[in-house]
Amino acid sequence: MPTYEYKCDKCGEEFELVRSMKEDVSSTECPSCSYKAEKVFSPPGLIFKGKGFYSVDKHNRDLKDPNINKKARQQDAKRYG
Ligand SMILES: [Zn+2]
Repeated sequence: MPTYEYKCDKCGEEFELVRSMKEDVSSTECPSCSYKAEKVFSPPGLIFKGKGFYSVDKHNRDLKDPNINKKARQQDAKRYG
């Protein structure tokens, strides 16, 4: 499930939430003050953090085993398709 980044309008608290696409993800409740927190639109480079397949660090590993990349693409296809 996708991770969304939020920032509270009132206290400035920044946090991430994993939410279903079926939910209304445009805003949520701040965990610190319960005020409305708006979704933050992250730069594209940050969206894939943690997955690894898009990072330079693991690029060499992908070259050694092309199947890793293939599996990742299949998983992405399932996730977004
Ligand atoms: Zn807050």
